[in-house]
Amino acid sequence: MNQNQKKTSCLIVGGGISGLIIAKTLKKQGIKTIVLDKGRGIGGRLATRKIGNADQYGVFDYGAQYFSVKDPKFQVWVDEWLAAGIITEWCRGFRQTDSNYPRYRGVISNRAIAKDLAQDLDIHTSTRVNKITYQDQKWLVATEQDQEFTGDLLVITAPVPQTLELLANSAIAIPDSIQIKLQQVSYYPCIALLALLNQPSSIPAPGGIFPEQEPLAWIADNQQKQISPEPALTLHGNTSFSENYWDADNQAIAKTMLSAAKTWIKPDSVIDYQVHRWRYSLVKTTYPEPFCAFPNLPLVLAGDGFVAPKIEGAALSAIAAAEYIGSYLNVSERTID
Ligand SMILES: Cc1cc2nc3c(=O)[nH]c(=O)nc-3n(C[C@H](O)[C@H](O)[C@H](O)COP(=O)(O)OP(=O)(O)OC[C@H]3O[C@@H](n4cnc5c(N)ncnc54)[C@H](O)[C@@H]3O)c2cc1C
Repeated sequence: MNQNQKKTSCLIVGGGISGLIIAKTLKKQGIKTIVLDKGRGIGGRLATRKIGNADQYGVFDYGAQYFSVKDPKFQVWVDEWLAAGIITEWCRGFRQTDSNYPRYRGVISNRAIAKDLAQDLDIHTSTRVNKITYQDQKWLVATEQDQEFTGDLLVITAPVPQTLELLANSAIAIPDSIQIKLQQVSYYPCIALLALLNQPSSIPAPGGIFPEQEPLAWIADNQQKQISPEPALTLHGNTSFSENYWDADNQAIAKTMLSAAKTWIKPDSVIDYQVHRWRYSLVKTTYPEPFCAFPNLPLVLAGDGFVAPKIEGAALSAIAAAEYIGSYLNVSERTID
């Protein structure tokens, strides 16, 4: 790559928290970034949805529920979001046995964290990348919507199995030693049920529980979480339920999950519901390094599949990847045009 070219460009596949942190960091260094995401909205698994009508609706965080911070590098971002009023502390734990440290949530919603990061970035949603080609020292990225994007460096932050599929479909050769490690990255599936109620639930404060009732893994009361005007519950099925009911119809899923939650929800209080199937929710097995760079290609893979799971893991992967890319491109002294 010509390191003296006036404006280096970076294409980023994935507008979840990791893609957005990379884009924002590189943009500050004067690198032109374009983020491409197949979703209708930005945020990936930082996902929020409304159900209902203009007069009566619930707001649901239905992917990531909350996050915590241990690493000082992520703390820097968290402190900025706190100061800007983007996030707030939800509580210091949901069980009596939980350790006493802050659990954070988006003030408006968790997707709003992504929306804040996305400000001033060049982002294309509803844009699914289906083929990538590297020739003449440029990446050419083709989308399902028949668009083409070019860039000097390509970053992919999709869940690793989706990244591997994209690389295979594009006939991008990966060294065996890297391929083996990437193939070992795995994720738990999770079925989420979003239930709009006509009366408050009896989930205790602060509005989140890890129920012992099979097949539930988690229930959040989005009204107590202060993101929903109406009582709105997010229920997550546990892994075995999510695997076994993956192909079941939504009615069967809702019936089973609501019946398990009857201690907290009156059955006739559910006025509407939706089901979302997360093929990739939390990471089960991670890649051993914070990101993956390739010896002969300006290609970087990052996201929560690398080193540590969850929001903090995704952010740390992104921070490490952006540091690497900045020094690789030797542009740390540049400023934005
Ligand atoms: C049900 C559930 C509960 C969770 N609970 C928590 C929690 O409580 N706390 C916590 O810290 N974490 C939680 N997580 C995990 C957390 O959400 C993730 O670790 C984190 O959001 C991952 O961010 P990411 O940017 O790496 O990936 P993602 O958010 O998945 O972003 C990847 C993006 O890539 C896009 N993409 C993929 N393929 C393509 C393509 N071909 N073309 C264009 N775009 C593409 C996707 O649309 C997506 O937006 C939960 C996740 C789920 C699903």
